[in-house]
Amino acid sequence: MLSESFICTTCGTGYAPSTQPPSACPVCEDERQYVNPMGQSWTTLRQINRTHKNIIDKIDTGLYALYTTPSLAIGQRAYLLKTPQGNILWDCIANLDAITIELINELGGIQKIAISHPHYYTTMAEWSHAFGAPVYIHQRDADWIPRRDFNLQLWEGLKTELLPGATLINSAGHFDGGTILHYDRILLVGDIIQVSPNLKTASFMYSYPNYIPLDKKSILHIRSSLAGVPFEAMYGAFGKAITRQARKAFDDSIARYLRVFE
Ligand SMILES: [Zn+2]
Ligand SMILES: [Zn+2]
Repeated sequence: MLSESFICTTCGTGYAPSTQPPSACPVCEDERQYVNPMGQSWTTLRQINRTHKNIIDKIDTGLYALYTTPSLAIGQRAYLLKTPQGNILWDCIANLDAITIELINELGGIQKIAISHPHYYTTMAEWSHAFGAPVYIHQRDADWIPRRDFNLQLWEGLKTELLPGATLINSAGHFDGGTILHYDRILLVGDIIQVSPNLKTASFMYSYPNYIPLDKKSILHIRSSLAGVPFEAMYGAFGKAITRQARKAFDDSIARYLRVFE
């Protein structure tokens, strides 16, 4: 029987190749996610390729958004960031097909992949293989990594330089290894920081689908992790962005959250 990676339809996480689907999806069983009330179900990349396609949109100087239509899993959105020293894929999406590989290669390929937290692991192994790029994940989330058959680079500490001028920051919060990418005037935040619908403020949660807030200590850590980091624009997980004065919006949003504890 063919061994292939089964992908959870609810969260998009791809597991180590097997002939039968896993018994459960640990990412969905976790209280930060949820198991489909209709029951756990699985798909594969071959099946997704038949029914979905990817969109690549240029959204800022040197920055492209990647997402799948129709919406897949939790509606993840990845970003391709072009720098003079190489291209970074920030976060990941489950669908990967030949046309996506071709289009990204026309943009210079992918030199490094970095992922904010487990809700974006999706098919990172296939992306890593397709572009010959290492995947950077914070050590504190190592237990969540569902497979190891690719070039995985675990990093430790508060910050690491991914490429010259591009820094990974372990802001934690939503996940202990929760990571943000800072480059020049841009901050790529996954949902470690969640941009609010007004596109002027942000918030921070332990679980978004289950409405579980973060404690004060986590909020203070997120604030200190970005102390002295200048940025003008903040691009979030699901297509929401604060494109101007995002640093002030972040500071005001932290202060707003901390008022809850007064
Ligand atoms: Zn899942
Ligand atoms: Zn998440």
